[in-house]
Amino acid sequence: MTRSLRPHLGSCRICQQGLLRLMRCTQCHGVIAVCDECELLWTDLDAVTTDPLAPTAGAFPKCPHCGANPAAFEMLTKREIEQENLERYIVGQSS
Ligand SMILES: [Zn+2]
Ligand SMILES: [Zn+2]
Repeated sequence: MTRSLRPHLGSCRICQQGLLRLMRCTQCHGVIAVCDECELLWTDLDAVTTDPLAPTAGAFPKCPHCGANPAAFEMLTKREIEQENLERYIVGQSS
């Protein structure tokens, strides 16, 4: 089994263990960046990728856009990231 590579936005500045992934709420379609280790999330992609002190918008699995808790999130695929014009935030890929 090969694990597919998933795009990420760099490492999490809070826990310094995880990588930030782009996900979308299946209810409101709001996009978030979520750490795959500590599960904190951010809505401001500019801030989280440039400002080490960017405030978090909460924690998985509550959607900060529509308030659904638990919300159903799905990982954005490379293609969706391109469609949403979010490629500029992607710094690398890992499994
Ligand atoms: Zn983290
Ligand atoms: Zn939502």
